Amino acid sequence: MAEPEPNDATPFLPERRSLKALREAAAGCRGCHLWRGATQTVFGEGRKAARVMLVGEQPGDKEDRAGEPFVGPAGRELDRGLEAAGIERADAYVTNVVKHFKFEERGRRRIHQTPKRFEIDACTPWLEEELKVVRPGALVLLGATAAKALLGSSFRVTHHRGELLDSELAPIVAATIHPSAILRGPDEATRAEEREAFAEDLRVVAKALARA
Ligand code: SF4
Repeated sequence: MAEPEPNDATPFLPERRSLKALREAAAGCRGCHLWRGATQTVFGEGRKAARVMLVGEQPGDKEDRAGEPFVGPAGRELDRGLEAAGIERADAYVTNVVKHFKFEERGRRRIHQTPKRFEIDACTPWLEEELKVVRPGALVLLGATAAKALLGSSFRVTHHRGELLDSELAPIVAATIHPSAILRGPDEATRAEEREAFAEDLRVVAKALARA
């Protein structure tokens, strides 16, 4: 019988902690069971010198197939938000708290499933290493899963979105919605409103970075 996963990515961390070494090692991570159903590990993307790190929940269907984070519809919303806030895409490192796509199959569709706490905890060592290597000037948590994973389970994005938060994680820390929430708006007017509110949260970060 196959060995059960340790529910911890730590044994899979490489000795060298460059982004390249981390990305290569993460490709073979078997720290929790999520690797079994997914196509591949989706590690963070961006330059070591990036000043902003944006952290989402997990790769989606398109990201799982492409092997890159934020390349699907939510990624396009993220790009729009960054552009509206005046944050260069090249100055942003994008990643997720969980590096494999968790889903359930419904017919031919793969429906996103929210990762459980033990899966998030298992995967956190990768994100901790990304934070240590990139050392971003600003850290932006996208959505409740990322915010709770890094700021504690009592944190409410709806209460604190767009605020500059007191945290040791980075000099500037803020949380906002996950860009996929914009796409769930029932009509174009709601989506436009959400899009603008998202861009406004990112503007708070851009202004704080400009002052830093
Ligand atoms: S989700 Fe994270 S901990 Fe689990 S197998 Fe994938 S990379 Fe490893």
